[in-house]
Amino acid sequence: MPALPSLEELLDSAHVVSLPMRVKFRGIMERETLLLRGPFGWGEFCPFPEYDDDESSRWLAAALEAGWLGFPAPLRDRIPVNATVPAVPAERVPEVLARYGRVDAVKIKVAERGQELADDVARVNAVREALPDAAIRVDANGGWDTDQAVEALGKLSTVELEYAEQPVPTIDGLAKVRRRLAAAGTPVLIAADESVRKEEDPLRVARAGAADLIVVKVAPLGGVARALDIVNQAGLPAVVSSALDTSVGIRAGLALAAALPSLPYACGLGTVSLFASDITLDPLVADDGAIQLRDTVADPGLLEQYAAPGERRDWWLDRLRRVHTVLARNQHGLFTGS
Ligand SMILES: [Mg+2]
Repeated sequence: MPALPSLEELLDSAHVVSLPMRVKFRGIMERETLLLRGPFGWGEFCPFPEYDDDESSRWLAAALEAGWLGFPAPLRDRIPVNATVPAVPAERVPEVLARYGRVDAVKIKVAERGQELADDVARVNAVREALPDAAIRVDANGGWDTDQAVEALGKLSTVELEYAEQPVPTIDGLAKVRRRLAAAGTPVLIAADESVRKEEDPLRVARAGAADLIVVKVAPLGGVARALDIVNQAGLPAVVSSALDTSVGIRAGLALAAALPSLPYACGLGTVSLFASDITLDPLVADDGAIQLRDTVADPGLLEQYAAPGERRDWWLDRLRRVHTVLARNQHGLFTGS
């Protein structure tokens, strides 16, 4: 096992950037992230600001895997990705879909606060009308309770659905919804997304019979090799998704999607287009419904142009120092202590 790179080595290559978003996400219009360059390439460390150091240490392990270990061997080199339709009124669906080229799979946001089931039904119907052959999945982000989920998915499934993502907030709730849908003869598969955040979660989801598939992100699970292992143990099909990363983080997501023994569903990795700017001249965006597997190199000009203000840079470097200490103490199966 390789030694954990020293803090000095990490600080030497660290860039903190603040990138403008096209749309508000988690209430922000700027996404801050710390990029590191190791002998194997660039890694991204971008736990959301409220995450504590212990949780953030998995994100650092993922960044260090990208830079200092490299990824497991790929089994495929084109990764299909889904388009996304936010909770817009049905009449705006054609305009949203027009931003994409070819769309074979589309995710539709449902259960938006302040809207009604009729809005969701109209939106889903509008997408089906525009894309008769596409795989359609809905994502409630845990926005329903059990009764609402069973009612809504009963109505929405008159349009053939690929699956429904996180209809209710908890693992127990997902298991309940899944049982009730089966009892009602409603043919909708359930995906766990928000319920899969830590490495023990996929196994809990599988044991509880809470989902037919899991949505996984590389950084919170501690890297590509670790995530592969976890998916394997859970024994459920996986959809690889992003944590709102730049192309550097998306590269790791593609590595996981490329290395999974089977990849039955399009991935949620088409999120670089949510950024108004990326840090590479060759952003990992979809072409014809898929992203071609390739390495990402950060551009010095863009790193400088989007460099975070001094106090934010100091905040991130400080965080890097603390989280490096946590990682040196705990390990995550990737490195030996240095
Ligand atoms: Mg989701």
